[in-house]
Amino acid sequence: MKIFIDGKYYSERDAKVSVFDHGLLYGDGIFEGIRAYHGRVFKLKEHIDRLFYSAKAILLDIPMSHAQVCNAILETCRKNKIRDGYIRLLVTRGVGTLGLNPKSCRRPSVIIIAGKIQLYPPEYYQRGLDIITVPTIRNLHSALNPAIKSLNYLNNILAKIEANNGGCEEAVMLNSEGFVAECTGDNLFIVKNGALFTPPLSAGALYGITRHTVMELAGAAGLEVSEPNLTRYDLFCADECFLTGTGAELIPVVKIDGRFIGNGKPGKITRQLEDDYHALTKASGEPIYQ
Ligand code: PMP
Repeated sequence: MKIFIDGKYYSERDAKVSVFDHGLLYGDGIFEGIRAYHGRVFKLKEHIDRLFYSAKAILLDIPMSHAQVCNAILETCRKNKIRDGYIRLLVTRGVGTLGLNPKSCRRPSVIIIAGKIQLYPPEYYQRGLDIITVPTIRNLHSALNPAIKSLNYLNNILAKIEANNGGCEEAVMLNSEGFVAECTGDNLFIVKNGALFTPPLSAGALYGITRHTVMELAGAAGLEVSEPNLTRYDLFCADECFLTGTGAELIPVVKIDGRFIGNGKPGKITRQLEDDYHALTKASGEPIYQ
């Protein structure tokens, strides 16, 4: 594997960052998780847009232009002969002193890793997930806005551990008001009476690119989509539920906190949107090879 660090390519063994990088010392940095399908990078522009918005929010100057980052991703895919895979793009604050002040960091580092995707086992897609609400609430947007895709994922990791301790793969995270925010690495949707609902970004959700794509696909299929605040009751009484994310794509949820969702099987609208999403991943994206 060839890994891009600040304009140069390194083997897996030699791809290293300094112990003084504030990305490591403080989780001070941002990232994106991107997919390649059939020799094309899916939603590349949208991911790089979000990266630059995250950078703006944390006052991080990415030392490359939007176009340069896009080209570096395509080049890293080519160097690794990627047709289908997962790309992890990171920008760290860079090397500084031990104090937390980012002023000591001279230059942010850009890292691109293009490898294989680790998916949920196929049976979860067939049967649907059993998930639980966990005690750790989602970060307040007034503290660390969940819209920033920062390298500090401890909030999500704690929730993931709590889900695992409860025997589940994923956690529903609520916000400080008790409204549903999202899951640890995915956005959440419900279907009720043929319409789609997903928590608003202000509830503490990441502006998921898959979330946005699914909202567009639903609109194109004539389904109504809205973003009201949702409570656990709304989830329990939904007809269908599914999660969205670059890694997971769409994955059905059939049980939440011991309550079956609908008839306890992945729903029809979920399945239709899964098919539409897969069709889109086959038909679009930035070509890696000309
Ligand atoms: N929420 C969180 C907390 C995430 O980390 C992610 C990305 N894995 C998502 C939602 C889904 O976002 P996207 O569809 O852009 O991958």
